[in-house]
Amino acid sequence: MPIPVVWSPETRRHEPMREVWVGVPTDGTEVPERVDRILDALDGHDRVEAGPHDDGVLRRVHAPAFVDHLATIHAEWMQGPYDGLVGQDRVVPYVFPTSAMTQGMPPTRAAATHGRAGQFGYDTMTLVGPGTWEAARAAVDCALTAVDLVTGGDAAAYALCRPPGHHATRDGYGGSCYLNNSAIAAQALRDAGHSTVAVVDLDAHHGNGTQAIFWERGDVRYGSLHVDPGAGWFPHYFGHAPERGAGDGEGTTKNLPLPEGTGDGPWVEAVRELAEFAAGADALVVSLGVDAAADDPESPLQVTADGYAAAGQLLGSLGIPAVVVQEGGYHLDTIGGLVAAYLDGHG
Ligand SMILES: [Zn+2]
Repeated sequence: MPIPVVWSPETRRHEPMREVWVGVPTDGTEVPERVDRILDALDGHDRVEAGPHDDGVLRRVHAPAFVDHLATIHAEWMQGPYDGLVGQDRVVPYVFPTSAMTQGMPPTRAAATHGRAGQFGYDTMTLVGPGTWEAARAAVDCALTAVDLVTGGDAAAYALCRPPGHHATRDGYGGSCYLNNSAIAAQALRDAGHSTVAVVDLDAHHGNGTQAIFWERGDVRYGSLHVDPGAGWFPHYFGHAPERGAGDGEGTTKNLPLPEGTGDGPWVEAVRELAEFAAGADALVVSLGVDAAADDPESPLQVTADGYAAAGQLLGSLGIPAVVVQEGGYHLDTIGGLVAAYLDGHG
């Protein structure tokens, strides 16, 4: 039986419009059409519309203050003068109260919406617009509905989450990600009684958010292969090989940074290494980014559909109940085929 596909029409509601990259507004590539391109390619799979889930798991994986901020900041922005002043209906931060500013002092809540905009974000490319919250929240329901299918007896389920999630940390958003769908799926699998969960992240970029959320956890492993941030790639500060977790999570994080231009051979070998890292866990979450593909505009890796099929076979052959969560993948003409190749391989 092909792996069931969980989706929600609400995930189309987030329109990034543009991102501000090194000061320049550029067109966003994380567009709603991604959903339809993937759905079209998965014609032969049972389609399940995501059902509503309460905020319980969401508010344990993410700080409640951050969740409240994301749910309300766009409406607050629209009540301000910004749209009329600058023709800008996207929430764009300009000041970030990082430790460079706070220096250990407790900051007071910023009164101005444009001051508050940077409190829970860490870059200028992840804008909040009309429908962003609704889409991100629907993606969480997709992930949780896929978990329900697996805890109900399905061997695997695929959650067509959009926007993606693996760059979202406990306290904030960034990297075109708002809520961490994979981390929420992993926590929900733990709550359902799976004592150890492994997250394997195939996206071309390191999932710094997922790594951060489980950094000190011994019960959730995080393994990732990705283009080497040391070669100048996002998320720049994390994803290096020496990062292995801390405290109870010492040794439960594994990073395999790969050189620019890496193709199927060494990429699939790295997936094999992550499959061994995940073996023995009671449940598996696959962060399925397909932006490692050769045609993708967002990364320099050169993986083919055959490579993704081989990754699916390696992870599927572990025989662990699996929730596959969509992350990146931006080349509209090929993303659907790449996702289909992975799912066919996973079986
Ligand atoms: Zn990516």
